[in-house]
Amino acid sequence: MIIRVGHLYPEYLNIYADRGNIAVFTRRAEARGHELRVEPVTVGTPLEAGAHDLLYVGGGQDREQGMIAPDLEARGDAIREAVDAGAAVLAVCGGYQLLGRGYRDRDGSWLAGAGLFPLETVAGETRMIGDVLLESTLAEAPGRTIAGFENHAGRTILDDDSQPLGRVVSGYGNDGSSGFEGCRIARAVGTYLHGPLLPRNPWLADLLLSWAIGHATGDDPEALPPLDDELERQAHEVAAGRARVRGGRPA
Ligand code: GLN
Repeated sequence: MIIRVGHLYPEYLNIYADRGNIAVFTRRAEARGHELRVEPVTVGTPLEAGAHDLLYVGGGQDREQGMIAPDLEARGDAIREAVDAGAAVLAVCGGYQLLGRGYRDRDGSWLAGAGLFPLETVAGETRMIGDVLLESTLAEAPGRTIAGFENHAGRTILDDDSQPLGRVVSGYGNDGSSGFEGCRIARAVGTYLHGPLLPRNPWLADLLLSWAIGHATGDDPEALPPLDDELERQAHEVAAGRARVRGGRPA
Protein backbone atom coordinates (compact mmCIF):
# COMPACT_ATOMS: atom_id res chain seq x y z
CA MET A 1 0.00 0.00 0.00
CA ILE A 2 0.93 3.65 -0.29
CA ILE A 3 1.59 5.63 2.90
CA ARG A 4 1.19 9.35 2.26
CA VAL A 5 3.50 11.64 4.23
CA GLY A 6 3.26 15.42 4.39
CA HIS A 7 6.72 16.82 5.19
CA LEU A 8 6.18 20.29 6.61
CA TYR A 9 8.71 23.00 5.72
CA PRO A 10 11.54 20.64 4.69
CA GLU A 11 13.72 23.51 3.45
CA TYR A 12 13.38 25.49 6.71
CA LEU A 13 13.21 22.87 9.46
CA ASN A 14 15.97 20.29 8.99
CA ILE A 15 18.56 20.89 11.67
CA TYR A 16 20.82 17.91 12.59
CA ALA A 17 19.69 16.13 9.42
CA ASP A 18 16.23 15.58 10.83
CA ARG A 19 15.08 14.49 7.39
CA GLY A 20 16.93 11.24 8.12
CA ASN A 21 13.75 10.29 9.98
CA ILE A 22 11.95 10.26 6.62
CA ALA A 23 14.62 7.94 5.21
CA VAL A 24 13.93 5.53 8.08
CA PHE A 25 10.18 5.62 7.46
CA THR A 26 10.79 4.99 3.74
CA ARG A 27 13.11 2.06 4.30
CA ARG A 28 11.02 0.39 7.00
CA ALA A 29 7.83 0.80 4.96
CA GLU A 30 9.55 -0.72 1.90
CA ALA A 31 10.77 -3.68 3.95
CA ARG A 32 7.08 -4.47 4.64
CA GLY A 33 6.10 -4.07 0.98
CA HIS A 34 4.69 -0.53 1.31
CA GLU A 35 5.59 2.64 -0.53
CA LEU A 36 6.12 5.89 1.34
CA ARG A 37 5.07 8.83 -0.81
CA VAL A 38 6.49 12.05 0.63
CA GLU A 39 5.04 15.40 -0.34
CA PRO A 40 6.61 18.67 0.80
CA VAL A 41 4.12 21.02 2.44
CA THR A 42 5.62 24.46 2.71
CA VAL A 43 4.72 28.15 2.92
CA GLY A 44 1.72 28.69 0.68
CA THR A 45 1.14 24.99 -0.19
CA PRO A 46 -2.39 23.87 0.66
CA LEU A 47 -2.87 21.09 3.22
CA GLU A 48 -5.80 19.09 1.91
CA ALA A 49 -8.05 17.35 4.42
CA GLY A 50 -7.36 13.61 4.53
CA ALA A 51 -4.43 13.83 2.11
CA HIS A 52 -1.78 12.52 4.53
CA ASP A 53 -1.46 9.49 6.77
CA LEU A 54 1.49 11.01 8.61
CA LEU A 55 2.70 14.58 9.03
CA TYR A 56 6.36 15.21 9.79
CA VAL A 57 7.99 18.42 10.95
CA GLY A 58 11.68 18.75 11.85
CA GLY A 59 13.69 21.14 14.01
CA GLY A 60 15.10 24.58 13.32
CA GLN A 61 16.46 27.60 15.11
CA ASP A 62 14.47 30.67 16.12
CA ARG A 63 15.21 32.39 12.80
CA GLU A 64 13.74 29.59 10.68
CA GLN A 65 10.87 29.16 13.10
CA GLY A 66 10.02 32.85 12.70
CA MET A 67 9.88 32.43 8.93
CA ILE A 68 7.30 29.67 8.95
CA ALA A 69 5.35 30.35 12.18
CA PRO A 70 2.55 32.48 10.64
CA ASP A 71 1.97 29.88 7.93
CA LEU A 72 1.96 27.03 10.47
CA GLU A 73 -0.37 28.89 12.83
CA ALA A 74 -2.82 29.34 9.94
CA ARG A 75 -2.80 25.55 9.42
CA GLY A 76 -3.74 24.89 13.05
CA ASP A 77 -7.33 23.83 12.30
CA ALA A 78 -6.26 21.61 9.41
CA ILE A 79 -3.58 19.89 11.52
CA ARG A 80 -5.90 19.32 14.48
CA GLU A 81 -8.60 17.96 12.15
CA ALA A 82 -6.07 15.58 10.55
CA VAL A 83 -5.10 14.26 14.00
CA ASP A 84 -8.77 13.99 15.06
CA ALA A 85 -9.28 11.87 11.92
CA GLY A 86 -6.47 9.53 13.00
CA ALA A 87 -3.43 10.79 11.10
CA ALA A 88 -0.05 10.27 12.76
CA VAL A 89 2.37 13.14 13.49
CA LEU A 90 6.05 13.26 14.39
CA ALA A 91 7.37 16.70 15.34
CA VAL A 92 10.97 17.39 16.39
CA CYS A 93 12.35 20.30 18.45
CA GLY A 94 11.52 23.58 16.66
CA GLY A 95 8.60 21.83 14.97
CA TYR A 96 7.49 20.36 18.31
CA GLN A 97 7.52 23.81 19.92
CA LEU A 98 5.42 25.30 17.11
CA LEU A 99 2.83 22.53 17.16
CA GLY A 100 2.09 23.72 20.70
CA ARG A 101 0.28 26.97 21.45
CA GLY A 102 3.37 29.03 20.86
CA TYR A 103 7.00 29.87 21.56
CA ARG A 104 8.47 33.01 23.10
CA ASP A 105 11.86 33.19 21.40
CA ARG A 106 15.20 34.62 22.55
CA ASP A 107 14.22 38.09 21.30
CA GLY A 108 11.00 38.00 23.30
CA SER A 109 8.79 37.63 20.23
CA TRP A 110 5.75 35.40 20.63
CA LEU A 111 5.46 32.92 17.76
CA ALA A 112 1.93 31.55 17.85
CA GLY A 113 1.78 27.86 17.02
CA ALA A 114 -0.69 25.38 15.56
CA GLY A 115 -2.25 24.53 18.96
CA LEU A 116 -2.12 20.76 18.51
CA PHE A 117 -0.04 19.90 21.59
CA PRO A 118 -1.28 21.25 24.97
CA LEU A 119 1.92 23.12 25.83
CA GLU A 120 3.81 26.39 25.62
CA THR A 121 7.52 27.13 25.31
CA VAL A 122 9.68 30.01 26.48
CA ALA A 123 13.36 30.45 25.55
CA GLY A 124 15.72 30.49 28.54
CA GLU A 125 19.15 32.04 29.00
CA THR A 126 21.08 28.79 28.64
CA ARG A 127 20.90 26.00 26.08
CA MET A 128 20.15 22.44 27.08
CA ILE A 129 22.54 20.31 25.04
CA GLY A 130 23.61 16.69 25.06
CA ASP A 131 22.69 13.02 24.71
CA VAL A 132 19.35 11.99 26.18
CA LEU A 133 17.91 8.73 27.38
CA LEU A 134 14.19 8.33 28.06
CA GLU A 135 11.86 5.63 29.25
CA SER A 136 8.74 5.74 27.14
CA THR A 137 5.47 6.57 28.87
CA LEU A 138 3.49 5.62 25.75
CA ALA A 139 0.71 3.18 26.62
CA GLU A 140 1.80 1.05 23.63
CA ALA A 141 5.40 0.74 24.86
CA PRO A 142 5.73 1.51 28.57
CA GLY A 143 9.34 1.64 29.76
CA ARG A 144 10.96 1.11 26.34
CA THR A 145 14.03 3.27 26.01
CA ILE A 146 14.43 6.13 23.55
CA ALA A 147 17.90 7.57 22.87
CA GLY A 148 18.64 10.86 21.16
CA PHE A 149 20.32 14.23 21.33
CA GLU A 150 18.88 17.56 22.50
CA ASN A 151 19.93 21.14 21.83
CA HIS A 152 17.36 23.76 22.74
CA ALA A 153 16.98 27.02 24.60
CA GLY A 154 13.22 26.56 24.82
CA ARG A 155 11.67 25.37 28.08
CA THR A 156 8.46 23.54 27.26
CA ILE A 157 5.71 23.38 29.87
CA LEU A 158 2.97 20.82 29.34
CA ASP A 159 -0.57 21.47 30.55
CA ASP A 160 -1.40 19.63 33.76
CA ASP A 161 -3.26 16.63 32.38
CA SER A 162 -1.26 16.15 29.17
CA GLN A 163 0.90 13.12 28.41
CA PRO A 164 4.65 13.29 27.84
CA LEU A 165 6.51 10.98 25.46
CA GLY A 166 8.78 9.67 28.18
CA ARG A 167 10.43 10.01 31.54
CA VAL A 168 13.97 11.45 31.48
CA VAL A 169 16.64 8.97 32.60
CA SER A 170 19.53 11.22 31.49
CA GLY A 171 19.43 14.71 30.04
CA TYR A 172 17.19 17.76 30.40
CA GLY A 173 13.96 16.94 28.56
CA ASN A 174 11.12 19.41 28.18
CA ASP A 175 12.29 22.02 30.67
CA GLY A 176 15.20 20.59 32.68
CA SER A 177 13.15 20.17 35.85
CA SER A 178 9.88 18.28 35.27
CA GLY A 179 11.64 14.97 34.58
CA PHE A 180 9.62 14.46 31.41
CA GLU A 181 10.30 14.79 27.71
CA GLY A 182 8.07 15.32 24.69
CA CYS A 183 4.32 15.15 24.37
CA ARG A 184 1.81 12.71 22.98
CA ILE A 185 -1.77 13.34 21.97
CA ALA A 186 -3.79 10.76 20.01
CA ARG A 187 -1.37 9.55 17.27
CA ALA A 188 0.82 12.66 17.46
CA VAL A 189 4.26 12.65 19.09
CA GLY A 190 6.44 15.71 19.70
CA THR A 191 9.98 15.53 21.07
CA TYR A 192 13.21 17.50 21.44
CA LEU A 193 15.24 14.48 20.34
CA HIS A 194 17.29 14.93 17.19
CA GLY A 195 19.97 12.84 15.88
CA PRO A 196 17.95 11.98 13.81
CA LEU A 197 15.69 10.19 16.24
CA LEU A 198 14.41 7.14 14.39
CA PRO A 199 17.56 5.27 13.25
CA ARG A 200 18.39 4.60 16.92
CA ASN A 201 14.81 3.93 17.98
CA PRO A 202 13.30 1.77 15.24
CA TRP A 203 10.40 0.56 17.41
CA LEU A 204 9.16 4.16 17.57
CA ALA A 205 9.40 4.43 13.77
CA ASP A 206 7.31 1.25 13.48
CA LEU A 207 4.72 2.48 15.98
CA LEU A 208 4.27 5.71 13.99
CA LEU A 209 4.14 3.75 10.71
CA SER A 210 1.50 1.41 12.17
CA TRP A 211 -0.58 4.45 13.12
CA ALA A 212 -0.16 5.89 9.61
CA ILE A 213 -1.21 2.57 8.07
CA GLY A 214 -4.20 2.49 10.44
CA HIS A 215 -5.20 5.90 9.10
CA ALA A 216 -4.79 4.75 5.50
CA THR A 217 -6.83 1.56 5.95
CA GLY A 218 -9.33 2.80 8.53
CA ASP A 219 -8.53 -0.30 10.63
CA ASP A 220 -7.08 -0.44 14.13
CA PRO A 221 -3.28 -0.16 13.98
CA GLU A 222 -1.46 -3.50 14.05
CA ALA A 223 2.15 -4.14 15.01
CA LEU A 224 4.38 -4.45 11.93
CA PRO A 225 6.35 -7.63 11.27
CA PRO A 226 9.78 -7.40 12.95
CA LEU A 227 12.94 -6.63 10.97
CA ASP A 228 16.56 -7.49 11.66
CA ASP A 229 17.47 -4.43 13.73
CA GLU A 230 20.92 -5.47 14.96
CA LEU A 231 22.68 -2.35 13.64
CA GLU A 232 19.93 -0.15 15.02
CA ARG A 233 20.21 -1.92 18.39
CA GLN A 234 23.93 -1.18 18.45
CA ALA A 235 23.34 2.48 17.51
CA HIS A 236 20.79 2.73 20.30
CA GLU A 237 23.22 1.22 22.82
CA VAL A 238 26.03 3.62 21.86
CA ALA A 239 23.74 6.65 22.19
CA ALA A 240 22.14 5.37 25.39
CA GLY A 241 25.60 4.71 26.85
CA ARG A 242 26.71 8.27 26.09
CA ALA A 243 23.57 9.63 27.74
CA ARG A 244 24.03 7.44 30.84
CA VAL A 245 27.56 8.82 31.29
CA ARG A 246 26.16 12.32 31.05
CA GLY A 247 23.60 11.61 33.76
CA GLY A 248 20.72 13.83 34.79
CA ARG A 249 21.49 17.56 34.82
CA PRO A 250 19.61 20.40 36.40
CA ALA A 251 18.75 23.31 34.07
N1 GLN B 1 14.97 27.42 18.49
C1 GLN B 1 14.54 26.42 19.37
C2 GLN B 1 15.29 26.40 20.70
O1 GLN B 1 16.48 26.66 20.74
C3 GLN B 1 14.60 25.08 18.66
C4 GLN B 1 16.00 24.60 18.40
C5 GLN B 1 16.09 23.33 17.60
O2 GLN B 1 15.21 22.97 16.81
N2 GLN B 1 17.21 22.68 17.76
O3 GLN B 1 14.67 26.10 21.70
